[in-house]
Formats: sequence, structure tokens, C-alpha cells
Amino acid sequence: MYEQEREELVEILKQKEITDERVLNAFSKVERHLFVPGVMKHHSYKDVALPIGYEQTISQPYTVAFMTQSLKTKPGDKVLEIGTGSGYQAAILLAMGVKVFSIERNHDIYQRTQKLFDKLGLRAALRFGDGTIGWEEYAPYNGIIVTAGAPSVPKRLIKQLAVGGRMVIPIGGRKIQTMKVITKISEDELKTEEIPNFTFVPLIGKEGWKEE
Ligand code: SAM
Repeated sequence: MYEQEREELVEILKQKEITDERVLNAFSKVERHLFVPGVMKHHSYKDVALPIGYEQTISQPYTVAFMTQSLKTKPGDKVLEIGTGSGYQAAILLAMGVKVFSIERNHDIYQRTQKLFDKLGLRAALRFGDGTIGWEEYAPYNGIIVTAGAPSVPKRLIKQLAVGGRMVIPIGGRKIQTMKVITKISEDELKTEEIPNFTFVPLIGKEGWKEE
């Protein structure tokens, strides 16, 4: 279903400078409409964020592709995602052969996505909780992807990143953020690239925003 629409979306991503073949392949395989709730399904292959309930969103495909490409993963890498949401980003990483650990703070969303993953046979470790403190048990991670906007980089996430690993995280105000791509050069040296103008829902938690 929707094969044609998916290929058109992949073409849009190519025009927006998504060049990594593994990322583009994952976008042509993963069926985004399975992660979008009922009434919005027919918009699934537009390059836009869509509501998933509870004032949360499934991110814009370009943003998912950009963040995934920036992580530069290899098959078998361990990636920690903060903000499971619909599960689409996690499914893209799984399609690239990555081992996914993902945390969601909204219990209803967590349960719904866990059920969907069981139904689709997607094998990721999903957890309910505050992702700003990370998931110590399986650290260090080759990649950490934060899919909600944070006021600053949570220190514990930096700790849980492997040396040589990358973290992709939107940092800024509650409405607009700059994407930071952080490479951990050594235990006490980081290299950061910044790309402006992204829009995410807020990361709420101990090392994030306070709930309003
Ligand atoms: N990656 C998701 C996807 O593919 O659909 C998009 C995530 S949505 C833009 C952001 C998600 O982050 C929401 O589901 C929200 O409940 C969650 N969130 C916000 N703060 C969080 C926190 N501290 N820990 C875990 N999840 C959090």
C-alpha cells in the first residue's frame, strides 16, 4: 500500500540533500501510514509533522531523515532514542539494522506504540519514563537521538554516549530550536555542529523543561 507515495517522498528527501543510501532505503521500506493515527493516514507521505494525540506529533519525514543521517550509524550499533512517540523514527533505525532503545514519558503513547511494535514484529527495547536521565543499564550508546526540544544538553546523556559516538538533539526555546550534532571525541572533548530552525514539542523532565 502507498508504494508510489513512499517513492515520491524519497525523491523529496533526495532533493533536500538526504544522500545516505541506507537512510533512503529505510524510508522506502518503512510504511509511515502504520504509525499515523486514523484520520490523518492519507497525509502520511506528505513531508509534514502530523498529530498523534496528547498534543504530540510524528516528526516531519525530512527531520527524521536529517537526524538519522547525522547519526552516521552502522548496522549493529546501539542507539538510544528519547521520545518514542509514534515509533516511526525507531522503525527507520531498525530497518537500518540498528539496535534501538527508546524512552517515552507519556504512558498512553508508550503503551500504544509497544502494542503496535508487537503487532508489526518490530524488536526494540521500549521503556516508559523520563528520557532526560537516559537508560544507564545499556550504556554506552553509539548514538543518541532526542526527538523533543530541550533547553540544554542533558549531562547524563553525554555520559551515556560512547567515545566516537554522536548525539543529535534540538536545543533552544520551547517553540524553535537549533539542531546540535555532537560528536564525543574523548571522555572530556566534544565537537558540535549546529543547524538552525527546527520545531519540536518540548522535552519535559528532570534535565528538560518543566511541565506547564
Ligand atoms: N520520535 C517520534 C516519532 O517518530 O514519532 C516523535 C516524537 S514527538 C515529536 C516527541 C515525543 O517525546 C512525545 O511523544 C513526548 O511525549 C516525548 N517526550 C517529551 N519529553 C520526554 C522525556 N523527558 N522522556 C521521554 N519522552 C519524552
